[in-house]
Formats: sequence, C-alpha cells, structure tokens
Amino acid sequence: MKRVMVTGGAGFLGSHLCASLLGNHHEVLCVDNLFTGSRRNIQGLLEHPDFEFMRHDVTFPLYVEVDEIYNLACPASPHHYQFDPVQTTKTSVHGAINMLGLAKRTKARIFQASTSEVYGDPDVSPQSEEYWGHVNPIGPRACYDEGKRCAETLFFDYYRQHGLAIKVARIFNTYGPNMHPNDGRVISNFIVQALRKEPLTVYGDGMQTRSFCYVEDMIRGFMKFMESTKDLTGPVNLGNPETCSMLELAEKILRLTGSRSKIIFKPLPVDDPRQRKPDITLARKCLQWAPRVPLEDGLKETIAYFSRSLDS
Ligand code: NAD
Ligand code: UDP
Repeated sequence: MKRVMVTGGAGFLGSHLCASLLGNHHEVLCVDNLFTGSRRNIQGLLEHPDFEFMRHDVTFPLYVEVDEIYNLACPASPHHYQFDPVQTTKTSVHGAINMLGLAKRTKARIFQASTSEVYGDPDVSPQSEEYWGHVNPIGPRACYDEGKRCAETLFFDYYRQHGLAIKVARIFNTYGPNMHPNDGRVISNFIVQALRKEPLTVYGDGMQTRSFCYVEDMIRGFMKFMESTKDLTGPVNLGNPETCSMLELAEKILRLTGSRSKIIFKPLPVDDPRQRKPDITLARKCLQWAPRVPLEDGLKETIAYFSRSLDS
C-alpha cells in the first residue's frame, strides 16, 4: 500500500483521482485550501479508513511522509484563476517549489498537472509536446499560463539537478461530474444554463475550437503515467483529439438536455485561444493510453450530475 498525496484533492479532477487511488488500495492524503474545491466533492470519501483530508495552502511548506505526490492544486477555470492572479502565480510557482522540496526529502515520485495553456494561442494544430507555444506573458491569462510554464521549468530543474522522479502531464480541457456549477468553464456553463432555461452564452462567434476529454479517461491517464518507468518524465499531452467549435457544443447540449434555451453571443475574452487540439501520439505509444468515452456519452453523464446537484 502506497501513501499518496493529492494536492487540490477536493477539486474537480482531484476528487476523482482520490476516489480512484482508494479504489486501487492506496492510502490517500488530500491537501486542499478549498478555494475552488469543496468538501461536497469528497463527502463520500471522508469515512474511508485510508482517506485523510488536510486543509492547507500549498504556497506554504508542508512536512508529511509520502511515497507519491500528485500536484493538482491551482484554480483551473479562467474565471477563478483571474479572480486573484497574484495568488494564482504563487500557487503554481511557490506551490511547485514546496511540493518539489517535499518530494526531494521523501524521495517521492511527483506528478505535475500542467496544462495545454502552456501552448497559449497556438499557431499550429494539433499541438505536440515539441511545440514551445505562443503565450502572451503580460495578459490576463498569463498568471496561469506563465505560472504553469515556470512550474514545468522547476520540475525539469529538480529532475536534472536532484534526480527527482518527475511526471509532467499537459492536460487539455476535461469535463465531468464534480465540476463547479459557477466556475465559468464552457461545459458547466452551457449545461447549467440549459437546465435553468437561461440563454447559452457563446463568446465571440463561437467558431473557436476545443477538444474535451471525459474525466474518467483523464484519471486513468494520470495513474498510468505515474506507474510508468522512471525515465518517462514527460511532458506528455493528455486529452481527447476530437475537436468541436463552441457553437457546435452549445447546439449539442441543447439537443441532449431537450432545452429550449436560446443561444446568445457575448464578447470574446482577451487572449482566448482560437484552437486547441492535442497530439497524443506520445501518450498512445508510451502509456498505451487514449480516451475511450465519446463526447455525447460524457455529456449525458455530466448533464445527469448537474440535474441531480441543481435539484438538491
Ligand atoms: P479545480 O479548481 O476544481 O481544482 C483545483 C483545486 O486546487 C481546488 O480544490 C482548489 O481549492 C485547490 N487549490 C487552489 N489553490 C490552492 C492552494 N494554494 N493550496 C491548496 N489547494 C489549492 O480545478 P481542476 O479542473 O480539478 O484542475 C486541477 C488541476 O488540473 C489544476 O492544476 C489545473 O491547472 C489542471 N488542469 C485542469 C484542466 C481541466 O480541464 N480541468 C485542464 C488543464 C489543467
Ligand atoms: N466559452 C463560451 N461561453 C461560456 C464559457 C466559455 O463560449 O459561457 C468559450 C471560451 O471563450 C473558450 C471556450 O469556451 O473559447 C472554452 O472556455 P473554458 O473557459 O471552458 O476553457 P479554456 O479552454 O478557455 O481555458
């Protein structure tokens, strides 16, 4: 049995990861300051004898004994990470330094939840790990994009300088149950709007594209990566290469919810990437991983989740 720490464990992805790790008979220490996460996401885990929750901010040092660390702590939605941009950069950078220091002392393997945002508004499609990105360093998204880029730098310097076993995953848009209903991300927004019979807010002309990966596929990718041989450091893209435009997504969600909400157009946020699509050749080859859940199936599960949680 391994003792595994998940920072950001009460968030959307973290809560699914904690549940899967417990399912694989690991001891789980969930560390979270509950900025965007919630106790509700981990309610079903609190009674588990191998689960422990610790309220802690990763920008401060932490002294615990662990075998593996998944570093997920960081608000992920543009709405939340732009709310307190200085704290977002601190969480990414100071958080990475503290967690890497912990990994060094305990000789733990450490996984970093990096992001497709390191590619910024990409000039190439699909994006492979070799692409260095096209990021505005001073725009409103920079606290997140540059914070995550600096965290990657730190991970690779700890690897080269101290021989740490690092696993850097570049996560593309992921969705599913336990997303925060007000976090402003497109799938949660559209589903909540459709269920509440409010207009669906498409930003810009809705022709920008994203690729959406269902959470179950993503968590399987995290765990395969953590279990892979030590020399596989990444960065490895994890995401679903199937893309759709935001207008197509809105129409799909209207159809799947049976909602008669209208679609309205709002201004495109500054620096909003025009396209995003992962090249997952590396993940397929080195991890034998690829997403299995088609968008419609994942959306149905997510719609069912929001229908239940908005009623309660
Ligand atoms: P989320 O906002 O639901 O979860 C983040 C968690 O981190 C929350 O529980 C929050 O309370 C916690 N947190 C934030 N700052 C903290 C701090 N200083 N100390 C301790 N805890 C802190 O977001 P998510 O979608 O679950 O994302 C998890 C990770 O995956 C993030 O690092 C994010 O950047 C990355 N990621 C997610 C996506 C996605 O589509 N969901 C895409 C790319 C990268
Ligand atoms: N978006 C939208 N309507 C919304 C929320 C988002 O059209 O209510 C668009 C947003 O402009 C972006 C895409 O959906 O082009 C994905 O946004 P999200 O915030 O989910 O994540 P991002 O990929 O931008 O980090």
